[in-house]
Amino acid sequence: MKNLANYAGIIVDVPTMQTNKAYTYKVPAAMQETIQVGMRAAVPFGKGNRLVQGFVVSLSTENQDGTHNLKEISNLLDLEPVLSSEALAMSKWMAAHTFSFAIACLQTMIPNAMRASYSKNIVARVPLEELPQEIKPLFKAGRSIDFYDDRITPKIKSQLTKLQAKDQVEVQYQVNDKVNVMRKRWITPLLDEGQAKKELEKVRKNATSQQKLLSFLADHQKGFWQVQAEKEINISSSVFNSGQEKGWLKIEEREVYRDPFKTVGSRASAPLDLTPDQKKAVAAIDNDILEEKNETFLLQGVTGSGKTEVYLQTIAQAINEGKTALMLVPEISLTPQMVSRVRSRFGEKVAVLHSGLSDGEKYDEWRRIKRQEAKVVVGVRSAVFAPLDNIGLIIMDEEHETSYKQEEMPRYSTRDVAIWRAKWHHCPVVLGSATPSLESRARAQKGVYRWLRLPKRINGKKLPAVQLIDMRQKYKEAPEPDFSLEMVEEIKKRIERQEQVVLMLNRRGFSSFVMCRECGYVLKCPNCDISLTLHMASHKMKCHYCGHEERIPYYCPNCGSKKIRYYGTGTEKVQQELSRLLPDARVIRMDIDTTRRKGAHRRLLQRFGNHEADILLGTQMIAKGLDFPNVTLVGVLNADTSLSLPNYRSSERTFQLLTQVSGRAGRAEKPGEVLIQTFNPQHYAIQCASRQDYERFFAIEMNVRHQLNYPPYYFTIRITVSAKTEEAAAKEIYRINQELKGVLSDSARIVGPSPQAILKIKKRYYYQLVVKYKREEKLDAYLQELLVQSQKGERQGIRVAIDRDPVNNF
Ligand code: ADP
Ligand code: ZN
Ligand code: ZN
Repeated sequence: MKNLANYAGIIVDVPTMQTNKAYTYKVPAAMQETIQVGMRAAVPFGKGNRLVQGFVVSLSTENQDGTHNLKEISNLLDLEPVLSSEALAMSKWMAAHTFSFAIACLQTMIPNAMRASYSKNIVARVPLEELPQEIKPLFKAGRSIDFYDDRITPKIKSQLTKLQAKDQVEVQYQVNDKVNVMRKRWITPLLDEGQAKKELEKVRKNATSQQKLLSFLADHQKGFWQVQAEKEINISSSVFNSGQEKGWLKIEEREVYRDPFKTVGSRASAPLDLTPDQKKAVAAIDNDILEEKNETFLLQGVTGSGKTEVYLQTIAQAINEGKTALMLVPEISLTPQMVSRVRSRFGEKVAVLHSGLSDGEKYDEWRRIKRQEAKVVVGVRSAVFAPLDNIGLIIMDEEHETSYKQEEMPRYSTRDVAIWRAKWHHCPVVLGSATPSLESRARAQKGVYRWLRLPKRINGKKLPAVQLIDMRQKYKEAPEPDFSLEMVEEIKKRIERQEQVVLMLNRRGFSSFVMCRECGYVLKCPNCDISLTLHMASHKMKCHYCGHEERIPYYCPNCGSKKIRYYGTGTEKVQQELSRLLPDARVIRMDIDTTRRKGAHRRLLQRFGNHEADILLGTQMIAKGLDFPNVTLVGVLNADTSLSLPNYRSSERTFQLLTQVSGRAGRAEKPGEVLIQTFNPQHYAIQCASRQDYERFFAIEMNVRHQLNYPPYYFTIRITVSAKTEEAAAKEIYRINQELKGVLSDSARIVGPSPQAILKIKKRYYYQLVVKYKREEKLDAYLQELLVQSQKGERQGIRVAIDRDPVNNF
């Protein structure tokens, strides 16, 4: 018989009293058979012995703590471990590596639905007669019982654990958003366009609602959701009912999936014949999968070079070997197109994880993965923790994307986690990009990563011709502030040829704000140190940080002048300019405002794909992953805005963005062209992007980084302090600065302390400093200590954040 565990190490969830050490608890005799590492437990904590939740991270037969009057575990919250030994090891590493609390790391690895606030049931999965005698009475009232039922003693629970292992009972989490299926009314017009117009002449002049409905029917022959029409033309649902009575339309209730990708079609697709370059890449990766060799590849391939096909064929190899695969993508490129490409190869074996899923849906996918029903996981950042077992391959597409970095505790880099997991599973990692981050490209150079290249587009297609338009010259004769004459001419040509155009507005660090031309007054948010953004549709000024809203002023609040106007370039403003320049062009606008609603992103792209519009106008969210064969012109309206960000990565960002968006043109038979409007045509980021010359950009930028001691030559860690007063924040950051000087060697450097680019957000003031270093023996230990100590300040409202390899804002 095995030794029963008498003591458990438990990481408890107690805000502001965290340490990364586990507390030791006694395991009551009745739980000793049941308890396993990775389960959650309720334990008494502190003087008042209030019950808190914790994770069991270790078990032993001896008391290694040394304390004598240990407390006992009150209750086990699971019948089987929710976290694997891999997850526990990973969280331990992650807590240390990202200066986070272990509990925060553990929590990130389980779905929301499994956190404390949801109710749990134990459900019998076999006929009740088959259950053991002592268990049967529990289920008297039905197959499903409350997990916290008083009759479930630790003894009974240990029985249930055994039954769970045999799959005879199961714990289910009650997630409310899951139970009710959503239904919406779908309208199918029964009149064709001509009939609808005829009918329109017949209805009474003052029956405006009916008129609106008829013209909407004429314009939307393929059918539409009723709610959508109600919004767009402002009519009530009774109008639809009477429309149905008149025989104009048919109403039906349709189920709508909350997963915008469940409906994505997936006709089976066969692997393509690989090009020689693709073959080389696939062979190298396959070989590692077969030999269970842990290695990191950088797959550098220009846009349209067939990287995705390399991913798909190597995933197939992993599955053939009886293993699973994890494919990570940035949110914006997790498009229906991408999902359908993966589904068409691997069908039902694919689980998709993205931020649009409800807690219930995420929990469902999590279970499918844990039960090994899904072999391939495609997902965004947090999917890197997917509970896959036996991983044979990890892919990270668009590895340079900044959304791979989590900005809140735990502030992990998805790449670091992916590489950690690959080591654990003895499998390869593939980092793919057309424009790799400088760090990754430099590591490939040094042989830390293995370098695979796809230098040519598929089928010998040329990269699009890129032309720079020097707005310093062209601005004066521009017909509208954001459009040069050339740009307008080229757009016109495409529309005449029935081709499509993608227009990108580089909005990073830029917005349309209101400024007084008389006194220079800018309308700012009262809570945040940032100018308010103009929203034409709602006629409001809004703060993008805290959501504060106010009316658009007619007079300057400062000097009373009427000359208060909006500046800058918002997508709405550009759309208005477009409608003046090309009144007949059909435009789809895609930005945070038009895509806020669930599934909107997909719908807009679908409409564009169906050629329901000539122009897709959008922010950077249109730059990636889209593959529309009919797009022959890509226009960038303002290449420069991201160059002036207070961030040493601003050139890299600009180069990546322009290269990515240029890659959207000419992906099929028709050749593509790219026009970039810029006020800095000589800047190397813009020059290199216009020639799609990554290697030259890399060489120049590495030189700049070297001279300024930035990554990849130096590591960076940022420390941010925020407080309710500026004084408190400044005082704390200078105190830390002073301490750091005693910790760091001569070769390290501190940038700052300084106020953040945006000093005030949501009524809090932010100060920061950045440590640049190569090797520092004492730094990690100091920062761990700072993390623990900082909890004292929390009570006075002072927060400290430590961020390894930060990606934004400095
Ligand atoms: P990337 O991900 O590098 O931008 P994609 O994987 O999207 O490139 O490939 C671009 C296009 O080329 C896609 O339409 C894809 O189906 C096609 N393609 C990829 N590999 C091959 C191949 N070996 N033979 C034919 N077509 C291919
Ligand atoms: Zn605000
Ligand atoms: Zn004024």
